Parts: sequence; C-alpha cells; structure tokens
Amino acid sequence: ETVNEDVVVIGAGGAGLVAAIEAKLNGAKNVAVLEKMAFAGGNTLISGGEYAAPNNWIQEKKGIQDSKDIFYNDILKGGDNEGDPKLVRVLADNALDGAKWLRDYIDVTFEDRQLFFGGHSVERSLVPKDATGVEMIKKLLAKADELGIKVYYETPATELIVDKDRVVGVKAESATTDYTFNAKNGVIIASGGFGSNVQMRMKYNKDIDDSILSTNTVGITGDGIVMAEKVGAKLEDMQFIQTYPTCDPISGALLYFGDVRLAGGSILVNQEGKRFVEELQRRDVISMAIKSQPGSVAYQFCDQAQVDNSGVAEHHKGEVEYLFNNKLLVKANTIKEAADFFGIDAKELEKTVDKYNEYAKNGKDLEFNKRGKLTPFDKNGPFYIMKAVPAVHHTMGGLKIDENARVINQNGEPIKGLYAAGEVTGDIHGTNRLGSDAIADITVFGKIAGKNVMQEN
Ligand code: ADP
Repeated sequence: ETVNEDVVVIGAGGAGLVAAIEAKLNGAKNVAVLEKMAFAGGNTLISGGEYAAPNNWIQEKKGIQDSKDIFYNDILKGGDNEGDPKLVRVLADNALDGAKWLRDYIDVTFEDRQLFFGGHSVERSLVPKDATGVEMIKKLLAKADELGIKVYYETPATELIVDKDRVVGVKAESATTDYTFNAKNGVIIASGGFGSNVQMRMKYNKDIDDSILSTNTVGITGDGIVMAEKVGAKLEDMQFIQTYPTCDPISGALLYFGDVRLAGGSILVNQEGKRFVEELQRRDVISMAIKSQPGSVAYQFCDQAQVDNSGVAEHHKGEVEYLFNNKLLVKANTIKEAADFFGIDAKELEKTVDKYNEYAKNGKDLEFNKRGKLTPFDKNGPFYIMKAVPAVHHTMGGLKIDENARVINQNGEPIKGLYAAGEVTGDIHGTNRLGSDAIADITVFGKIAGKNVMQEN
C-alpha cells in the first residue's frame, strides 16, 4: 500500500510526537507517525518525565539563581566536554521555551516543586504531574489527535527510501500490510536509542553485555540508527552508554523510590553499612561506584520524613508495593532491624547515620562533599532501606545532527529530506547525560526538526 504524506515521523515517543505536532503547525497537511509498538511513548513514557529548565517558574518562586550559561556548562561538563558545544548551546538556550510550550500549548501539568538531579549546579528540574512521562505522552497524543495527525501502531519502519541524493519516504511493515510512505517534505527519525539491543550495545561497548539489565522498553533497539547509517548518516559517541544507578535487581526497571535521593534525602550505603559516593554525583559515577562495592549492589537508606517529602510513596504506590513483596524494600522502626533484613552491618550503618547527622548539623559533608542542603535523619524512625543495582538507561550516541536537526552524512553535509531528534541522535550529552536533560532535549530538538522539515523545502 502506498500512502502520500507531507511528513513522516518514525517513532511515537516524546521526540516524535513533538516533531509531528510542530510540522503540522508549520504547514504540513498530512503527517503520519509510524510506531513499532502497540502503544506510544517509548522510553519517554516510562521515564520520570522531569524537565531541566534554567530560569523556570519554580526557581523564580524559590529565589534560585540560574542561567542558560550555567545550564550549558553543566551539560558539557556532565558529559566530559564530549558533546558538540553548538548543539548544547541550542539545548540550553531553548529549554525554558520548550517547557513553557509543553505547559501552555500542550497542556502538560507540572507539579509545584522541583527535583535536584545529579551533576546539575542548581535545582532546576520541573516535575510533571505524578512524576512520570505518562502526563506528557497523554497530552501530546491528545494534541496530535486534535490536529489530525495519524499514528500507525504496530507498524515498524524498516527502510528509508532515497531518490538520487534525497530521502523521499519510508518503508514500513504491519502484520497485514507492506507500506510505502512517501514523504513530500521529509522524514524525521525519532525512534529512540538502542538500550534494549544487547548485540548493538556490545558492538560499540563490550562492557555493556547481557549481564546488565536495562530500564528501556523493548522497542528501543536502534532501528533508526541502522536505517540512517545505510543512507550515509554519520554516527557519533556510540560507545557512551549510560547506566542508571538505582534499578530493580530483578527486572532492571528504574526505581522511582530512588527519587527520595533527588528530593534531597537519603544516603547510599554498601553491605558494610558505609557510604561510598556523593549521592548527587553523576549517574555514571554512582553506577561505577556501586559496581565496585561488595556484591555490586547499593542500599538506599532514608527515614519516613524524607519519603513523605519526596512524594514517592503516593506517586508510585504500585512500585512500592512490588518492592515490599519482592523483599527489595524494608520499613523498620530501628536502623538495626532495617539493616538486618538485608544482612547489612548494622553497627556500621548506625555510625554512618550519626556521622551524616553531624555533617547536616554543621552544613558540610566532610567525606563526599554532597551538594545542596543536607537533610538529617530522624533517629526515632521509621526507616527504609531499598536494594538496587545499575541498569542500562540511555545511549548517548547516535545520529549526528546540526543545529537545524538535519542528519549529517560522512562528509559533514546534511542529508536532504532527513531530520532526527531525541535519543536517536548523538553528540549532545557527551559521555554522560544528566538526569532530566533528555526531556528538554527531545522537546527542543523535536520542535526544531518539525519546524525545519517544513521550512527548508
Ligand atoms: P525519544 O525520547 O527520543 O522520543 P522514545 O524512546 O521515547 O525516544 O521513543 C522512541 C519510539 O520509537 C518508541 O515508541 C519506539 O517503540 C519507536 N520505534 C523504535 N523503532 C521503531 C521503528 N523501526 N519504527 C517505528 N517506531 C519505532
């Protein structure tokens, strides 16, 4: 079957839906989004949905000083200066506008609070309703529907169609139909990363083998990267694969109970009851630190007030119940009782907690220099301990794009008719993406891709 469109978007995750909407707003009459799975959302859906935006409205209310330049430097430094400064500049400069667009035009509800993600200099991460990507995907889908954008579910794209030196369409296959989608203005690839593709992970980084679980949804297998590579696209930074430090030791899923840490409470300890890393360090640093502890596991320790303050018990009820049922989380009245549940050295943990409370009182963490305000533990309890391991979370590498989201070929020139946005792209976050920067990235570059696919033709 042949379908004639103005714009074809590959992938109905956050980046793809944003791009499709923006293409429509910039004059595309017919826009199709091809989605491999039976549902939209990809990794965006299962993420916390937090959005890093300098000078945002919560910062204003709380009197937190921030700037585009500080954010720019954080992104670059957080990725060991491996990101392309030109792309990072675009991201930093447009992040706030993207957040306002989501809030005001897409109608995404943000909570009246922020989180402090590791590696950022200041607290700047907006939290969508219920602290998951569900809110964003739900509202983007509603807008796409309102604008008459058609999403083809269970229709994986398989190949880009090239005419001379221009991408003019996409081949896709559903269970019943072989499609040829013609794309008059162009194709936008937004198919996400390759965290669920063990073979592809190992092709670029042998260390990220099948012993490491993944937080990703199963559809995230690098399809867009492979398709674009076949038409000459340049790949960047493919070896940089991020693990998220606190995941489910059974399934690999990202554990939202870990957000107690990002809300400013809790410490991470090892089997010996000792801290071993700054709890607000970068994800890669914390992950590596956990890997080198006995048993390669971490235990997140916190008290009731810290759990209450983070809102996790209320937002992620199902997960908390799951964790209790699977003996990955314990609640106890004394530190000893909690420690004994996991065979952690209780005496050491008590000492660690006393020491941390001393640091909190004096306002300085003498061991790991934890940033932000230190929240002491209430010695009366109750206490919680969660067991967690690192799992593959984000692939920093992917298609090289320019500031206009055009896909770049081996000679450094844009491939005509081909755009990309989101996790499928590389060379923005360098060696390591900071938490809450991806939602900003997909929004900013999704919008740029959707706009430019219409303007440059
Ligand atoms: P981003 O954050 O960059 O938007 P996501 O992971 O949220 O990335 O979304 C990527 C989407 O692309 C997912 O919904 C995934 O199922 C979809 N996808 C992956 N490969 C293909 C493909 N070959 N054809 C169509 N959709 C795809």
